[in-house]
Amino acid sequence: MSDALLSLHNVTLAYRRHPAVHHLSGALARGSLTALVGPNGAGKSTLLKAILGQLPVQEGRIELKLPRARIAYLPQQSALERQFPISVLDAVLLGSWVRRGLFGGIPLAERERALAALAAVGLSGFAARTVATLSVGQFQRVLFARLMLQDADLILLDEPFNAVDARTTADLLALVRRWHGEGRTVLAVLHDHQQVRTHFPQTLLLARRAIAWGDTATVLTGDHLHAAQHMVEAWDDHAQPCAPGVPA
Ligand code: ADP
Ligand code: MG
Repeated sequence: MSDALLSLHNVTLAYRRHPAVHHLSGALARGSLTALVGPNGAGKSTLLKAILGQLPVQEGRIELKLPRARIAYLPQQSALERQFPISVLDAVLLGSWVRRGLFGGIPLAERERALAALAAVGLSGFAARTVATLSVGQFQRVLFARLMLQDADLILLDEPFNAVDARTTADLLALVRRWHGEGRTVLAVLHDHQQVRTHFPQTLLLARRAIAWGDTATVLTGDHLHAAQHMVEAWDDHAQPCAPGVPA
């Protein structure tokens, strides 16, 4: 794909040489909005970590047409972080560290951007609250405001709406659509197939290998979903290390 922002070339990812994701090839077009779908243990989080460079690629190659500093990432659960005794505003400002570096004061303009991001996620007036006082949904809004401060070109979201109330989900989904409209590339791990069908034009259905990757309507078929479930259930985590070059 000529306008690919991210390309996967026969990528195999492994933990201690035991493969978790197998021989994955495909691309994310610049500006695309893609759902990453698959059963538990399918390798979805593993793939995001490899894109971020947090996990070495065992075989194959991940080709990024942007610096990693231009990638923003929302990890799967941030429960621990909610215990930190910091204010909502400071939690959002953490998002601009990537651009500013750790040292030096926070310019006024940056505070203004953080306050604007809080307003965009529906948390005007929350800046001075400590994050520990927030509900799960409010905290997720804070993390989205932080993502906005990063001003990234590629945004990776790992189960962003997990345990989040319906109202918050709808608001944050609207933000994701807005990022898409701004030309950013988004890859989001999601479980709600109806939500994916309605809002995500592209889908990668992963079950250790790609079951299907393309237009959502052609990917999320009954046959494909059944195959994905079967693939993960049949997988043996203690199988032999992946032999190089053997197709899935
Ligand atoms: P998903 O996000 O789709 O639920 P994961 O990427 O978390 O799946 O996990 C894929 C497989 O890799 C699972 O079998 C999981 O047990 C294994 N795995 C994940 N993280 C680790 C790790 N840190 N060490 C060893 N195995 C892991
Ligand atoms: Mg996961």
